[in-house]
Amino acid sequence: MLEADCRDDDWLARRLQELRATYFADVPPGYPIVAQFGIQARYRFGSIMAREGKSLIRVNTLFTDPFVPVFVIDATLAHELVHYAHGFGSGLPRRHANPHRGGVVDRELARRGLKELTEQADAWRREHWEAFYARRCARKLARQSALADAAGRLWEQWLCRPGYRTVDHLRARLVRLGACFGLPADRLPFDVAWLHASLRQKGLSYWFRREKTVRVHGLIADPRVPDAVLDFELAYWLACLTGGTSWPKWQRALQQAGLQNTAEVALRWRGRYWKRFCVQDHPLRSQAG
Ligand SMILES: [Zn+2]
Repeated sequence: MLEADCRDDDWLARRLQELRATYFADVPPGYPIVAQFGIQARYRFGSIMAREGKSLIRVNTLFTDPFVPVFVIDATLAHELVHYAHGFGSGLPRRHANPHRGGVVDRELARRGLKELTEQADAWRREHWEAFYARRCARKLARQSALADAAGRLWEQWLCRPGYRTVDHLRARLVRLGACFGLPADRLPFDVAWLHASLRQKGLSYWFRREKTVRVHGLIADPRVPDAVLDFELAYWLACLTGGTSWPKWQRALQQAGLQNTAEVALRWRGRYWKRFCVQDHPLRSQAG
């Protein structure tokens, strides 16, 4: 029990050695293995990679908490040792094209008598992991959600500036463009809304499949952005989502709607101004500092 109190990299190396000697003794040596506690993640428990002639196995640092049973760590190490044996991150010949596909890891674990350990670890994770993670990383989660709330507020303020395009305006444009494609208002393939874009989201619009919604980057609410830019985004998604409407057909539809210059204007504006616009005018710019 004393040992469990001191889960450091040496301890981890000893666990790995023991597992390797007991269950993987037939696997020829590839790169020498270095095991470390080195990632803190919600969904990732371990990883293996080749680095400078060594095989680096990293295990979630949250597993150093004595609340996490040792068999969970063992199961993680065993999983990575299977990758090692299959030639991933070990310098050994590759035995499969893909590290996981076809259930090759589970099959190998079962073949080596590690099925029970794996199932025990899976069951523990299913039962305890989410709550444990929330407890251990409460501050991180709170910070993330506070940031998201603050970003939401900044975007709300931004989007209700006088003279800015509203969500009703978005919908009206969508209805008009839908009509150009022969789609009545009640048969449009998606709804449209603003995207409270993060600083990393540089696209002008995004398709959210589960919500059946196209979200247009909030900066496009700015009246300095030409109408053509918005129309082009909506027309693009209409063309994509109404069953691969061909480019010429799409252009004809735009022309018929008196929007022949739309694509040209939109692409020109995008090329010339969008990058700068994103950097200078983003409402979350202050948050990033
Ligand atoms: Zn894996």
